[in-house]
Amino acid sequence: MKTVDDLLTEGVRGLHVLVRSDLNVPIDNGRITDDGRIRASVPVIGALSKAGARVVVCAHLGRPRGVADPRFSLAPVAARLSELLGRHVALAGDVAGPNALEAVDALTDGGVVLLENVRFESAETSRDDAERGRFADRLAELADRYVDDAFGAVHRRHASVYDIAQRLPGYAGTLVLRELSVLRGLTGSPDRPYLVVLGGAKVSDKLAVIEALLPRVDRLLVGGAMCFTFLAAQGRSVGSSRVEPDMVDTCVDLLRRAGDSLLLPVDVVVGDELSADTESEVVEAAAIPDGRMGLDIGPRTVAEFATVLSGAHTVFWNGPMGVFEIPAFASGTRGVAAAIASVRGLTVVGGGDSAAAVRQLGIDESAFGHISTGGGASLEFLEGRTLPGLAVLDEDAGRR
Ligand code: ADP
Ligand code: MG
Repeated sequence: MKTVDDLLTEGVRGLHVLVRSDLNVPIDNGRITDDGRIRASVPVIGALSKAGARVVVCAHLGRPRGVADPRFSLAPVAARLSELLGRHVALAGDVAGPNALEAVDALTDGGVVLLENVRFESAETSRDDAERGRFADRLAELADRYVDDAFGAVHRRHASVYDIAQRLPGYAGTLVLRELSVLRGLTGSPDRPYLVVLGGAKVSDKLAVIEALLPRVDRLLVGGAMCFTFLAAQGRSVGSSRVEPDMVDTCVDLLRRAGDSLLLPVDVVVGDELSADTESEVVEAAAIPDGRMGLDIGPRTVAEFATVLSGAHTVFWNGPMGVFEIPAFASGTRGVAAAIASVRGLTVVGGGDSAAAVRQLGIDESAFGHISTGGGASLEFLEGRTLPGLAVLDEDAGRR
């Protein structure tokens, strides 16, 4: 596929370049709580602007479900992007309507405009190819070239990720390229032992990646809410912990196939409910009292996981070990993150909440080899699936 460096070499002065970025940041009461994705998007936008392109940035925020909902406006993002870029970024009042057209027309060389949340248009995520196509046509009218730098969205067959690249000459952004080269290091021949740590909310989200990784990894360490479905599959009592009943049989099968390579917690921190003021205590993972809910892995588990991790040469981590958003249940995630950070070798963190946890818990980001901006995209890549947003850039380069 062609890259943004190819585009810069071709020359962009005066050209309108549509950049699809991943600016999907957590926002609490209008305040951005983690600007990692905005910072990761600045290099490509900045390089194009410096080279004299008229940059039209397109991104989504949350799930506004196809309507212009002010709660999902990119306004706070435009403000933060302006600060980080060191130049004013105007926010268009719509995605590809009259307001966007006007803002794009008003751009001068080096100027940057951010289109409003692309998911305000229901066609963006439509399953109807024609509907998506018509919307992509309107987006394509705004620019001469297309750069995909939204790694977090390349696994989506959405108009601003997929269809647009069939309408404008497409290039991969540096963030996408960096993500790819790191993830290829994991799917190729990783230095062994290769350990994967999985946590987070649901087994069902991560089942495909567990299936794909089991035969490739030396150890799979499981924490987070998903460990309770595995513990239930072992016949343990898990109290009122989050369990996915329809996944229990699948977990029985996975446990049988994984044998010793799958490690589960030996102790857990429980509370009465998912809240900050619930009374917490550490119990054996095999004996969670009735009515109590597992909200973090316990200290003995952290120590055991850390010992295993200390021998690793390659680590991929996705999913927090507990409800890290609440300080009483953050120790497991902090401990495992610290253990991964001290591994010498390639360490990769994937997943929006995992990356947010690293920053929120004050762990030095530079201690990790790579913190992926794309959760679902990195998991699908590791599963070996074709990512539509990348495949379309390959096809486009093939045609040119
Ligand atoms: P990522 O975005 O890194 O892929 P997920 O979205 O799968 O991670 O999961 C993150 C969420 O999982 C966090 O909000 C965290 O609070 C939650 N979580 C982790 N452990 C538990 C648990 N034991 N019970 C309930 N929720 C949990
Ligand atoms: Mg998540």
